[in-house]
Amino acid sequence: MNHVRQAVILAAGMGSRLKGTVDDRPKGFLHFGIKPIIEESIAKLIGIGITKIVIVTGYHSEYYDKLKEKYPFVVTIKNQDFDKTGSMYSLFTAKNLIENDFLLLESDLIYEYKALQVTQNSVFGNCILLSGRTKSGDEVYVGTNENRIVNLSKNPNEIKKIGGELVGISKISYDLYKLMVEHSEKQFSKDPQYQYEDCLTDLSNIKEINYELVEDLAWIEIDDENHFKKAKENIYPQVQKRDAEFIVSKKIRRNVLLNPGPATTTDTVKNAMVVGDICPREKEFGELVESIRKDLVQLVHGEDLYEAVLFASSGTGAIEACLTSVVPDNKSVMIINNGAYGKRMQQICDNFGIDHIDYNIEWGDPVDLGILESILSKHKGKISHLPFVHHETTVGILNSLELISELAVKHNVEIIVDAMSSFAGIPIDVKKSNVHYLISSANKCIQGMAGISFVICNKDSLKKTKNYKRQSFYFNLYDNYTFFSDHNQMQFTPPVQVLYALRQAINEYFLETEEGRANRYSELYEVLKTGLEKLGFKFLVDENFHAKILTSIIEPSDSNYNFTEMHDYLYERGFTIYPGKGAKQNTFRLANMGEIYKDDIVKFLECLTAYKKLKNIKL
Ligand code: PLP
Repeated sequence: MNHVRQAVILAAGMGSRLKGTVDDRPKGFLHFGIKPIIEESIAKLIGIGITKIVIVTGYHSEYYDKLKEKYPFVVTIKNQDFDKTGSMYSLFTAKNLIENDFLLLESDLIYEYKALQVTQNSVFGNCILLSGRTKSGDEVYVGTNENRIVNLSKNPNEIKKIGGELVGISKISYDLYKLMVEHSEKQFSKDPQYQYEDCLTDLSNIKEINYELVEDLAWIEIDDENHFKKAKENIYPQVQKRDAEFIVSKKIRRNVLLNPGPATTTDTVKNAMVVGDICPREKEFGELVESIRKDLVQLVHGEDLYEAVLFASSGTGAIEACLTSVVPDNKSVMIINNGAYGKRMQQICDNFGIDHIDYNIEWGDPVDLGILESILSKHKGKISHLPFVHHETTVGILNSLELISELAVKHNVEIIVDAMSSFAGIPIDVKKSNVHYLISSANKCIQGMAGISFVICNKDSLKKTKNYKRQSFYFNLYDNYTFFSDHNQMQFTPPVQVLYALRQAINEYFLETEEGRANRYSELYEVLKTGLEKLGFKFLVDENFHAKILTSIIEPSDSNYNFTEMHDYLYERGFTIYPGKGAKQNTFRLANMGEIYKDDIVKFLECLTAYKKLKNIKL
């Protein structure tokens, strides 16, 4: 059974029975918690691995259209006749946006997370979710026979054997949807108010439609004032409690990783790897990989002009792939080295005999643009590419993408940006910054698992490399790209589960939003910096050049200080810290990337304070 990736939310209704209870907002914008119920529903859908959400709007569609601006995975379509038609017409309206199996929901539902999980994980391709008795006064009863549904009706007398109540969450296969579209088209002239439930009843004898029953499910559809009151006083608190317990029951030990990646991940990303076994050559898996490639490009605003090429490797693999694939035979690269990863690019070039001109800077110091320009001028015509590290994780410095790129454009060289630890943590626009190749991996700010690296390539630049001499078989960028284009698959066996986790991590990134993630990281940095300053620590990198994702802290000279002891003390308390590496002064490092929050940093600072006191370390 395919994992469903698309959801359709019916949100056209006017909620006329609620007038007087709330203002003229559409029902999805009712609030019981912090966010409107539609946004709570969206977050739950992302939690079960949905990647595209189509909202069929009508009444006050502008509310829903705003969600589209916030979440790139949301698409809206308006049922222009929302005041004259029923739910099936809304579902029909979405026909050009539905191209696969999907979950169908109503916008005015409050439900526990389990409702989606049961529906998503059902072995049945067409599955209607049923609950036990709710006594809501507005029940739709579902007649069943063995594991099939037979009919749906608000009148229990019309039903021979009641299997349960319709919740309003269903999994619809694409085949069934096509039948629904075909069948309903003939009905609309007779009955414009035709409901999707009636359509399911009408088709149930020609198409097997199954159900899943969750006897004790907390949910409610809010149609009138009584439902609103019941939702507020009873159901919503119950849903909150159950969701918290549900997540807790699946909780995995949480370690706060303050090392520079792999970063702390959500439980939903970890759980996304537990999937049915699948051959990666199946169409379903190809679609997953395609969606990841497309979204990685979208994340850096490279739509249409860029392509993502994925590799089964750590980040260094993608750097090696890029350097060995894009430099013409008779040309050189000019490498900026102000940390271990700049130096690593030089080492890769040495290994493959790629000529490189180096701009070496003390690790911890920023790029001097004047020097950079003078090197570029001196070797004009010789240099084809300028590879550099955006966020040099060795020290935590940010090498300005915009300013370096400006110089590259001026000197007619292409740039290769190692954005390993900035991608998804710092907003990047590859078009505006004239990026030719941008490299990253799945396990840093995007908050997925280690095992996938990728290069986001400007298509025109990449195509120029078609006939360049091959330096590597596995890692040739152009060959891997053409394999994706021709087969919709990775050329070699992919790390299947890591890709499922990456899919989920990307969904969660888009849910948090580009701005939201960047702001969270910056806030964590500020809290960390202020706390460390209070303790008396000093930093390696000037604040003006700080990437605010990793901080290099100068090691205390006090003889009571010992990094390994400090590491072990903190590790036992759930915090992983990291040693320094080759900087101009001895340092240790703390990163603030990953699924961590202000509370984590506050607790970490408390532990560090306790350790400093225990060992009587003077700063
Ligand atoms: N480049 C940068 C900026 C990094 O931070 C890292 C790893 O931390 C790498 C390259 C190397 O990546 P990997 O260790 O995944 O090969």
